[in-house]
Amino acid sequence: MIEVEGLTKRYGAKLAVDDVSFQVRPGRVTGFLGPNGAGKSTTMRMMLDLDAPTAGRVRIDGRRYRDLDEPLTYMGALLDAKAMNGGRSAYNNLLCLAQSNRIPRHRVGEVLDTVGLGAVAGKKSKGFSLGMGQRLGIASALLGDPRILMFDEPVNGLDPEGIHWIRNLMKSLAAQGRTVFVSSHLMSEMALTADHLIVIGQGRLLADTSMADFIAEN
Ligand code: ADP
Ligand code: ADP
Repeated sequence: MIEVEGLTKRYGAKLAVDDVSFQVRPGRVTGFLGPNGAGKSTTMRMMLDLDAPTAGRVRIDGRRYRDLDEPLTYMGALLDAKAMNGGRSAYNNLLCLAQSNRIPRHRVGEVLDTVGLGAVAGKKSKGFSLGMGQRLGIASALLGDPRILMFDEPVNGLDPEGIHWIRNLMKSLAAQGRTVFVSSHLMSEMALTADHLIVIGQGRLLADTSMADFIAEN
């Protein structure tokens, strides 16, 4: 479970995230909906300790991210597939990540198969299409077999088959009892994946409701 309390991020005069509080529970897909510029990425970056809040706090199963023993086994994130070293093979990119996070080597082959990149594991990731890069980013999120998964706009760059695949992946991760948190600027996308919806606009929390209630009321 993730607890976000009074989270605030100010860039100069701009309040990118304004006193936002919510909880993300396990066993379901929680959608994080808002238009571009609403503050979704900034919020997710603070949840992952990639950015320091101006105010407020985030707790993951009661602890700060930096206090988690092996963060990647707790929380896997797809934030930026460009974080990969394009000159390395897909396999070696994930192996480096595994080694620096004390994740067993056999997970690398497993997650590459899970995301459908098993056949191109030895190829340099700079030759990958947008969709393949996105799948590699998802593989890195799955590497530590984490209880919590954070996906920032995961369908971007995927073809229809890839979009269908990631929707099913998120649902099955939630059905296994994991916490899945996924952002999108598209209500149509959220309606197809999320059980629960958190809506943000101009940095402020606008709704925190089950998908069924949200659809009934809007
Ligand atoms: P979203 O992910 O919902 O598209 P962001 O969290 O990326 O929104 O951005 C929220 C707001 O904060 C936007 O107005 C954006 O321009 C601004 N912002 C984000 N990062 C920075 C930054 N590093 N410096 C200044 N402003 C930023
Ligand atoms: P997204 O739409 O995925 O949130 P953005 O294009 O808003 O991505 O942001 C990409 C990067 O640029 C992020 O690291 C964000 O923090 C930074 N950024 C966004 N808006 C601004 C801004 N107004 N000034 C400086 N950096 C920004």
